[in-house]
Amino acid sequence: MVKIADLLKASTTVSFEFFPPRSDEEATTLAATLKDLELLHPSFVSVTYRGGAESRQRTFDLVSMIQNETTLTPMAHLICVAHTRSELISILEEYRSIGVENLMALGGDPPSDPDAPRGELRYATELVALAREVGGFSIGVAAHPAGHPRSANLEEDRDHLAAKLEAADFAVTQFFFSLEEYTGLVDDLERRGVTKPVLPGIMPVTSLSSVPRMATMGSPVPEWAVQRLVDADAAGGPAAVRAEGIALASELCTGLMGVGAPGLHFYTLNRSSATREIAHALGLSGA
Ligand code: FAD
Repeated sequence: MVKIADLLKASTTVSFEFFPPRSDEEATTLAATLKDLELLHPSFVSVTYRGGAESRQRTFDLVSMIQNETTLTPMAHLICVAHTRSELISILEEYRSIGVENLMALGGDPPSDPDAPRGELRYATELVALAREVGGFSIGVAAHPAGHPRSANLEEDRDHLAAKLEAADFAVTQFFFSLEEYTGLVDDLERRGVTKPVLPGIMPVTSLSSVPRMATMGSPVPEWAVQRLVDADAAGGPAAVRAEGIALASELCTGLMGVGAPGLHFYTLNRSSATREIAHALGLSGA
């Protein structure tokens, strides 16, 4: 039984994020990735969540498998959207009954269908409070260095984040590419009196085609970084782009450690090679 809040008090952490597989092929890839990344002895791994009935079960099954069949410590993601309060309590109690004690409490994105149920809880803060009522969880929340896309302005978003993080144990950020985005976020929280750990989220860019996708996922790749990837492409094609993307992520990680980040959280997209290469470049344990 390991609580992430306790791990963060003891030392810096390294963690990996996965999504539940949606097909046999994806399940095979993920099984190999888990085996591979387990060798790096991550502090914990997290499993994303979608609200639909089937995908809900997929998250629970993966978290349960990690809990029971590997040496890894899982953190289950959960969202407010599309759930009643009593459904959320049942899910939380089910996790506690199998010994899972780390939770990422999220608001979730509103359904695209305007007639679909919104859910009884609106913001992640309310889910943090509910999980505290159920009890026994170390609770993480999401932080958005550039501000949440639905926020009217950055200051208000930071105020909401500060209140949310005060109630939770730690935050994990959306991925980003410049060190200043992280230090700006941490400074803004400190100015609001909140000094809880904020784990930076790292997503390496491994191809030029993924650059536009990063912007739609919440964080555009800055012009200077795109230029380095374009130059690498001109010099050596896709393999050189991949190597440059890994170099960019490794440099960011080094900078983050330099400013005292409490850990590094890698968005793996269920593949191990890029994360392993960054871990190796940084000399992280077991790499
Ligand atoms: P919330 O804290 O709920 O805030 C959402 C918006 O409401 C913000 O603009 C905020 O400023 C505003 N707000 C907050 N509180 C108040 C208040 N009291 N009054 C007025 N406004 C308020 N999505 C998934 O569906 N599944 C996942 O597994 C998942 N994992 C994620 C992991 C990480 C690390 C991150 C960064 C995001 C993840 N997301 C996931 C995306 C997340 O669900 C979306 O960002 C969602 O749009 C908002 O949820 P939140 O918890 O980030 O924000």
